[in-house]
Amino acid sequence: MNLSLHILSSERPFLISGPCSVESEAQMNEVAHRLKTHTSTQVIRGGIWKPRTRPDSFEGVGEKGLKWLKEAGKQVNLKVCTEVSNAKHVEQCLKNEIDVLWIGARTTVNPFTVQEISDALKGTKIPILIKNPINPDLKLWMGAVDRFLNNDLTDITVIHRGFSIYSHHKYRNVPAWEIPIAFKQYFPEIPILCDPSHISGNRNLLLELSQKSMDMNFNGLFIETHPNPAEALSDASQQITPEELKTLINSLVLRENKIVSSHQNEMESYRNKIGLLDDRIFELLSSRMKLSEQLAVIKQKNNMTILQEKHWKSVFDYRLGKANEYDLSEEFVQKMMEFIHQESIRHQLSIMNPNIDSE
Ligand code: PEP
Ligand code: MN
Repeated sequence: MNLSLHILSSERPFLISGPCSVESEAQMNEVAHRLKTHTSTQVIRGGIWKPRTRPDSFEGVGEKGLKWLKEAGKQVNLKVCTEVSNAKHVEQCLKNEIDVLWIGARTTVNPFTVQEISDALKGTKIPILIKNPINPDLKLWMGAVDRFLNNDLTDITVIHRGFSIYSHHKYRNVPAWEIPIAFKQYFPEIPILCDPSHISGNRNLLLELSQKSMDMNFNGLFIETHPNPAEALSDASQQITPEELKTLINSLVLRENKIVSSHQNEMESYRNKIGLLDDRIFELLSSRMKLSEQLAVIKQKNNMTILQEKHWKSVFDYRLGKANEYDLSEEFVQKMMEFIHQESIRHQLSIMNPNIDSE
């Protein structure tokens, strides 16, 4: 894959910032000047067509805002970007010489729309930012990337903006860091930005999320700033001023993806020991599955169900109660026991019903 990542400089964190929504000419000019003065922002963002959950919210100023966005960028000599959700948006952005486009989370979920946008952009060299889909589906995110690569649109960057959940949580969208980390394994050449604004929904959590993304070796941040966040027409509680962005960036500790040679041997020794422990974990898991299979033989001969809820509940609760003692989080113990149990059921099913698919 030949990716020409010309919008991203090697400097970390690469910074894209600006308001959630373009609201007026004055707002854009003011935010652009303050971003230029106080921060190293390289691309100014601003939503023109806002995908709102309910139709009674502010849905963006529409096409006229493209001129305000572009002009604000010109005044401070910075590139600008906005979200496109269909081929008509693409056409209007190209007409107004918007420099960079982003695909929103609600668009990435729909392969038809992603394809339509990709086809509308075919033949251009425009940089594209692809947010993760709102649902935690790695393949859907990768599929959206493929739809652009297949049309020779190779200036691609992705944005981690978290995943929707129904129940209350600290964050507006759960980060599920394992998904962007897995994405990096599949597409190591594609730069990745963190959008702490849409993950958190809360300006007080921006710093901790930004720091975490830098420690995960992300390339930069995509973060909402507004000249007067309290008055913002959308996402007011997560926006900060350009001056607050400066403080946030200055507070980040930037670490490098390297091994310091004076510690190489010491690190190798720890990593080797960890590898040996992983070997033992695998051997133990394999032995555990063999014992489950023995149980399955008894259950089959005696016409007993695989799942015996009361027993499983007591095993599960007992292990959960041990989480603290072993300095493991309850969430980890819960997930681990559920995974082990699922695999155990798969082994038992294959013994008891050799002719049906145990997946
Ligand atoms: C946005 O960046 O303004 C936006 C709508 O984001 P998302 O697609 O992540 O919800
Ligand atoms: Mn927003």
